[in-house]
Amino acid sequence: MTQVVRTEADARAELRRLVAGRSVGPVLGLVPTMGALHSGHGAMLRAARQHSDFVVASVFVNPLQFDDDADYQHYPRDLESDLNFLTEQGVDLVFAPGLEEMYPGYPSGPLVTIDTGDLGRRWEGASRPGHFDGMATVVAKLFNILAPPAPARLEAWFGQKDAEQLAIVSRLVSDLNHPVSIRSLPIVRDENGLALSSRNQRLSAEDYRDALNLYGALKTLTERAGAGEPLDVAHVGAQLAAAQGVELDYLVVVDPTTLLEAEPGSGMLSSDGVLHQEALALTAARVGPVRLIDNAHLQPAAGQGS
Ligand code: AMP
Repeated sequence: MTQVVRTEADARAELRRLVAGRSVGPVLGLVPTMGALHSGHGAMLRAARQHSDFVVASVFVNPLQFDDDADYQHYPRDLESDLNFLTEQGVDLVFAPGLEEMYPGYPSGPLVTIDTGDLGRRWEGASRPGHFDGMATVVAKLFNILAPPAPARLEAWFGQKDAEQLAIVSRLVSDLNHPVSIRSLPIVRDENGLALSSRNQRLSAEDYRDALNLYGALKTLTERAGAGEPLDVAHVGAQLAAAQGVELDYLVVVDPTTLLEAEPGSGMLSSDGVLHQEALALTAARVGPVRLIDNAHLQPAAGQGS
C-alpha cells in the first residue's frame, strides 16, 4: 500500500526520506486532487510518473473553494478506494490531511487567503464567488507543505478540464514566485465525449444523455474554428440553453490567458466571427443535481491564423 501521511510534519519527513541520497536533483511530481478518483486523475498520475522521479498525490476536499455548502457536503468522498487507486498507480506518497490540519480552527481560520483578482472573478469565478480564491489558497499551501528539500524540485500537474483553474494557478506561481513548474494534461473524456469528473457519479442515465450536449456544443465550435467558418457562439449557446435537461450558465469564447471574452472585430475574432488566434471555449451548466464545466481549445483554420 502506498505510504499515506496526514500531517505537514509527516509529509516533510517522508519527502526528506524520498530525496535522501540523491545528489542529482530529482523531480517530485505533485498531483493535487479532491479524491473520488477516476481515469482523468489516472491519466495525470501516469503523466506525472513518466516525467518525475517521485509522485505525490494529495487528497483533500477543500471547503474554501465551495460557495455552496450543500455541494461541499455532497461532494463524493471515499478515501479507501482512492488509496487503492493511488496504490495501483504506483504513487510514492499520499498527503491526505484532515480539515483541522489544513485550517486549524476552521471556519474562523484561515485569516490570510489569496485574492485572485479579476482573473478569479470571470466565468466560474462570477458564478461561484470565492471559488478561485479558495482554490488558490489551498494550492499555495500544498506547494509550501509539499516543497521537497533541495536538490529536488517540484512540478505540479493540473488538468485542462479546469482551464480557468490552470490559468489562475499559472498566474499564482508567477505572481508569488512559487518555485514550482506547472504541467498540464488534456481533458480525458469518456467514449461519448463527456469530460470525466467526480461529479458525474451523481448523474442519472437521463442526466448523462443531457450532459452530452455540452460536448456537442464545444465540438461544433471546434469544427467551425477549424473550417474557418464564423463561430456564431450566440447561436450555439442558444441551442445549448434550449437542450433538454440543460440549465446553461455560460458558453463563451475567451483569450486562454486573460480569460476575457473574444469580441468580434478584435485580433482574435474577425467582425463576422471567424477565429484568427487560438482561443478557449468555456461552458458551464447545471444538469440534474450537478454543475458541470467543460471547455475546448479552438484552433484557427490553416491560413486564418494571424
Ligand atoms: P479534482 O479532484 O476534480 O479537483 O481534480 C484534480 C485534478 O484533476 C485537477 O487538476 C483537474 O483539472 C484534473 N482533472 C479532473 N478531471 C479531469 C479530466 N477529465 N481530464 C483531465 N484532467 C482532469
